[in-house]
Parts: sequence; C-alpha cells; structure tokens
Amino acid sequence: MNAGAKIGEKRLVPGPKGAELVKRRERCVGRALGAPVFFASRAKGARMWDVDGNEYLDWIGGICCVNVGHCNDRVVKAVKEQVEKFNHVFAPWHMSDSYVELAEKLIEITPGNFDKKVLLFNSGAEAVENAVKAARRYTGRYNILTFERAFHGRTLLTMGLTSQVRMYKYGFGPTDIGIIRAPYPYEYRCPYKLENSNYAAAYLKRVAEVDKLYASFDSIAAVIIEPVQGEGGYIAAPPEFLKGLRKICDDNGIVFIDDEVQAGLGRTGKMWAIEHSGVVPDVMTSAKSLGSGLVLSATLGKKEILDAVDPGGLGGTFGGNPASCVAGLQTIKTIQEDKLLDKANKQAKFARDRLAAMKGKYNLLGDVRGLGTMIGVELVKDRKTKEPAPETAREISNKCRERGLLIVTCGPFHNVFRLMWPLVIQDEELEKGFDIWEDAIREVDKPYSH
Ligand code: PLP
Repeated sequence: MNAGAKIGEKRLVPGPKGAELVKRRERCVGRALGAPVFFASRAKGARMWDVDGNEYLDWIGGICCVNVGHCNDRVVKAVKEQVEKFNHVFAPWHMSDSYVELAEKLIEITPGNFDKKVLLFNSGAEAVENAVKAARRYTGRYNILTFERAFHGRTLLTMGLTSQVRMYKYGFGPTDIGIIRAPYPYEYRCPYKLENSNYAAAYLKRVAEVDKLYASFDSIAAVIIEPVQGEGGYIAAPPEFLKGLRKICDDNGIVFIDDEVQAGLGRTGKMWAIEHSGVVPDVMTSAKSLGSGLVLSATLGKKEILDAVDPGGLGGTFGGNPASCVAGLQTIKTIQEDKLLDKANKQAKFARDRLAAMKGKYNLLGDVRGLGTMIGVELVKDRKTKEPAPETAREISNKCRERGLLIVTCGPFHNVFRLMWPLVIQDEELEKGFDIWEDAIREVDKPYSH
C-alpha cells in the first residue's frame, strides 16, 4: 500500500497520519457529526490530497459546494484581497459594497421579470428558514407544504421540512408542526396506477388532495420544493409537475419557494434547476457552491414578499461576510465567463452515454436519472423487486476511495450514488473517475439466480 499514491493507485485510507487524527477526533469531536476517515491537506480543481499525501479525484465536491473547483484562482485572489482590507462587518450597521454587488448579480441571474430583493445568510438551512419566515409574514398564514424525501436542513424548522427520519429527525421531538407533506414525483418507484404513463399528473392529483385531506390551501403560506431532490436521491421533478404546482400556488395565493441550495449554480446545465421547467418561483434559496467553500447563502425573491418583514426580522451577525460576498461574486462570474454551463452539458452527455452502457452490463444499476450533471444512480439487489442495495453501495464507495476516487451516496436507503464533481473537471479526470468507479462496480456485481 502506498502513502503518496496517485489517482488509480491503491492506498490505505486512513493512512498512518489520518488514523492518528481519527483517534484524536474520536476523543474530542461530537459523535453526531458522523465519522470521516479522510483528512484533507490540500485541494485544487477536482483533486484533493489527504494528510498522508495521497491524491484523489473529488466527486463529492464538499457535498456540491465547489462547482467552480477547489481553490478557484479568481475566488482565492478576491478573498485574499478582501481579508487584507477588512474581514467583518455587521451588515445592518456597516455593509460592504460587495454585499450590494452580489445582491444585484443574483437579481440579474435569477428567473422572474419583477422587482426582487436579496438577503444574505450563512447556511442553506438559514436561507430556507428565512424564506419561510418571509412567506408567513407576507401571507399571514402559517402552514408550509413540503415533500417526501425532501431535505431542507437540520435546524428545528428545516428539520421539520426535511423528510428522512432515521438520519435527521429521530428523537428530536415534534418537528412537523404546521408542516404538510405530499409525495414527490418519483418515476422509478411510482406507486400509482397511471393513465398514459403520466406520472406527473398522478402526483399532482395527490398535491390537489392536500386541500381536502390535510390543510386547506387558504391556510398554506408556502410550498417549498427542490426541483431536483438532493439528499432525497437525485430525483428530478418533471416540468409538468412543477408547472401544475405553480398553478396551484397562483390559484390559492401560496408562495412558491424554490430551494436551489444543492441543484443551483450550474449543476444541472442551467444556472438554476427550475429553469428547465420554465416555472418562475416567487422566492429562491441558494447556498453550497455560492461561496465556493466560504460560508454564504442567499434568500431572494419578489420584493413585496421579502419586504413584508420589518427591519430586524431577518438577519444575523455574520450574514453577508465581505470575504464570502467577493467569493460569491467571483463564483458567479466564473460560471458565466468560463462557460461552465456548456461544460456541464458536455459532461452530462458523456456521463449519460457511459452510464447507459454500464446499465446494460451491471444488474446492480436499477435506475439512472437526473438533470445535467446532477445524476443519481440507484443500486438495487434485484431489478424486479427493486430492493435497495446500500451495503453494496458502501462497498463500492470504499473500493473507490482506496483507489483515489471520492464518491458518496444519498437517499433514505443510502443506495443512490450522486455525482457532484466540480464542473471544472478535466475530460481525462472524468474518464479516469468513471474507470475507477466501473471497476469497483464490476467486482461486486452478481448475476441473478432466478
Ligand atoms: N436545502 C437543500 C436542497 C440542501 O441540499 C441542503 C443541504 O444539503 C440544505 C437546504 C441545507 O443546507 P446547509 O447544510 O448549508 O444548512
């Protein structure tokens, strides 16, 4: 086993230095965080190095936070320049010009030909909480409609909006007060009898029934939806479903909140995932890749909705940190000027072709889906029963890590590989990653006995 192994070469994970850090972590870091065995020492573009000097291709991207690559030159330069000038302002008192510039940029690049306002925060959960607060204040209503398998964060309110029980909600008491949940369209596991294979219509019918079964529409302040579910399994809602949802909102005075924390900023081949449907949301949230690793999130939307909240009602000590704002600006400029949407679409085509071939060869691959490079690959023990195969998925991701590819799963059963490489990845890096991943799948794939 090598220390200092190159991508594709076998290595021990953790290596000796990593193992020592694992021991120290166990003594001092809270268990609730989960248990990493990878300790980073350096990262650039689509590559990372661990403390033992081993090199990796990073298809995790810090959970989708580095669409423009690790340590992007433009971002690093802007942040360095900013932190040497001033490093903190309390935005309600002394704001940086980059806060305003980023707000203007976000208004320019988001759908909706109407007056918009922007507020900056720190995490995705905070952006979601504030979107909900604004919607409640604007409508004077309390209830929020969310979806099965949704993920919107871990704070008390967003944990309620989130749907996975075991991992995120278990033992924390009542979380879903004022929260109503409808099924999210899931073609691969659709439980409804369909007319003309129109699964979007079947799921829309379920949303329409909410008014009779769970909460009258005139009590609902907002619908919150991920156009492509992230943690829930990389599942894209069909455009007709999103359009139907928009109509329900229009007909009933409900605010449409589009959570783009994971799907936004180029991941799906458009700047925002919702653009694939043509639907214009009232409010949007962004985070993750927005700050390229610096702490930054945004809630933005119709002026009258955001401005329904009185001064002091939304905010926080660190929201709109100057270094985060310049990182956000350079991130967006990089996506635009380096044509990362075109790159994402080319990568998506390559990935889909390769995955179509893999699906033909390996029984494990039950479903391949997604939008742009936001691709989910669902592993099943048997294509007929569709029983999830989480243990095999874990085995594959361990094998990949030992050969220098970082890749993770999502979904309530942890059986869906999600592809989150930085969009600046080189063609040969993408191909090499697929080779490593496919080798690992081949080693564990089994023919059916029936
Ligand atoms: N919304 C979505 C769609 C997410 O994927 C996430 C995080 O994964 C969040 C909200 C919460 O973001 P954060 O972890 O920054 O609070």
